[in-house]
Amino acid sequence: MIRPVPHVGALAAYALADLGGPQTISLAQNESAFPASPTAIAAGQAAMADMPLYPDPEWPDLRLAIAEVHGLDQSNIFCGAGSMELIGCLIRAYAGQGDRVLGTDYGYAFVASAAVQVQADYVKAREVDLTVSVDDVLSAVTPKTRIVFLCNPGNPTGTVIPNAEIVRLRTSLPKNVLLVVDQAYAEFSDAEHDPAEIFAMIQRGDTVITRTFSKAYGLAGARVGWAYAPPGIGAELRKLLNPNNVSIPSQAAAAAAMRDQTHMREVVAKTAHIREAFIEDCRALGLTVPQSHTNFVLLRFSSIDQAQRADAALRAENLLMRGMGGYGLGDCLRATICAPGVMNRARDVLEGVLT
Ligand SMILES: *Cc1c(COP(=O)(O)O)cnc(C)c1O
Repeated sequence: MIRPVPHVGALAAYALADLGGPQTISLAQNESAFPASPTAIAAGQAAMADMPLYPDPEWPDLRLAIAEVHGLDQSNIFCGAGSMELIGCLIRAYAGQGDRVLGTDYGYAFVASAAVQVQADYVKAREVDLTVSVDDVLSAVTPKTRIVFLCNPGNPTGTVIPNAEIVRLRTSLPKNVLLVVDQAYAEFSDAEHDPAEIFAMIQRGDTVITRTFSKAYGLAGARVGWAYAPPGIGAELRKLLNPNNVSIPSQAAAAAAMRDQTHMREVVAKTAHIREAFIEDCRALGLTVPQSHTNFVLLRFSSIDQAQRADAALRAENLLMRGMGGYGLGDCLRATICAPGVMNRARDVLEGVLT
């Protein structure tokens, strides 16, 4: 019999999202409600002509686009097949058997599975009111802690902590602990939280920032994420990335999407508008909804049973939200912001369940 190494054999299969059937409208994966910039789609299509070649392993034009828009040093930008690839490689580079990777109660589930793959222990610090608590993160640090993951804005909560709190976390952490700030949804909160303050943290040499094209840029299917990392950490990360990780059309589409900030900002504004209306509707129905700074909302029902009844009623109408039992939030469903017509249908179903 062919046997895997024991720690892989003992792993549960990665919990893939339930995607429903062909009629299903997914509000489950936080994909953008709007298409990518037309210039991004055109650039991706044009780049398909170059597909006999391998993609450039240095992502030169994509790095340049990111560096220009955010005012960053391109040599410190590292691109991945989604930020998931970057997160997985950071964990492989900086944690091993018996080490601790510290997240928070409602941190990104992928981090936990990536930690287990390297036989590290994944530990969660308490969140308070569905929001990261820097003091609780700090008190969960032990001598075995090698990496702290902070998702800001948070998924699945949608809540945000101020930049000053992230800086306080960093300056209070031991210098030998890597801090990774996952900013997958930051484009939705950049207007209120100056991104330059967070990017500047890499100058310390102990902090990495990750972002993605999967959410506000509408390119989840292209698989492009990026990290802003100090040179020493970037060199280790580079060793572990697949050398040709981002396909030619994906590099071209992402670079053009980055250069079309007008389109991205419109998407963010339209998404926020739909989100605020949906939050208001849901609160009027008696649901508890934390203020979201993302393209999704967390709906808290009065009981697990009520959340399950809502989930079943939504599914009967081919609407699929994401159950939160895996996060210990069985009384919640997470809803991605979709077109207004979809959100209105969801509200009507919820109204039927709640009244
Ligand atoms: C969607 C998401 C990502 C992005 O993953 P990609 O691999 O870039 O698509 C990262 N972190 C969190 C918390 C997310 O929700």
